[in-house]
Amino acid sequence: MLINVTKVKSTAQSSERLNLAEAVDAAAYGYPELALQGPLQFVGRVENAAPFLELHGQVAGRLRLTCARCLAKFELTLQAEIAEAYTNKPEAMSKDDEYAVSFFEGDEIDIAPALLQALLLELPMQPLCRPDCKGLCPDCGADLNQQPCTCNHQDIDIRFSKLQALLQDMQSQQPEKEV
Ligand SMILES: [Zn+2]
Ligand SMILES: [Zn+2]
Repeated sequence: MLINVTKVKSTAQSSERLNLAEAVDAAAYGYPELALQGPLQFVGRVENAAPFLELHGQVAGRLRLTCARCLAKFELTLQAEIAEAYTNKPEAMSKDDEYAVSFFEGDEIDIAPALLQALLLELPMQPLCRPDCKGLCPDCGADLNQQPCTCNHQDIDIRFSKLQALLQDMQSQQPEKEV
């Protein structure tokens, strides 16, 4: 996702609007977890703030994800704010504390790595197809969102209540032991 910075880098304090939508192979950039459906979008601007070119705006991408509970595939649009700095002057690399500064050469900057990194930070740790996803039955594997399965989960409940009764017994006996 290349932007041409020939003009903006040659004029102090100039800026250029950007409105991009491009197919990006996230895996080729080292982000295989970002399964993009459709183009990566960026709306913002690039600014000459010598010795940096600053990139500001918003990235959006539609991702194909796998639900952490029911394993269904679903799509989710993620957005992220972008604030990046680029420089073609090696001596400027360590002078900016506010942003991580990336180096560029020539007249073009590939902004895809910054956009993908920002999207990755928005990726949920436990993606859910919907907030109340019921998940899969641990016994038969049925998708409990479709219909309740026929497994007899009462067995587990009974065993659990017996265990609870046992624990309560033990707790009520403890004071006697201490005496
Ligand atoms: Zn789900
Ligand atoms: Zn089941």
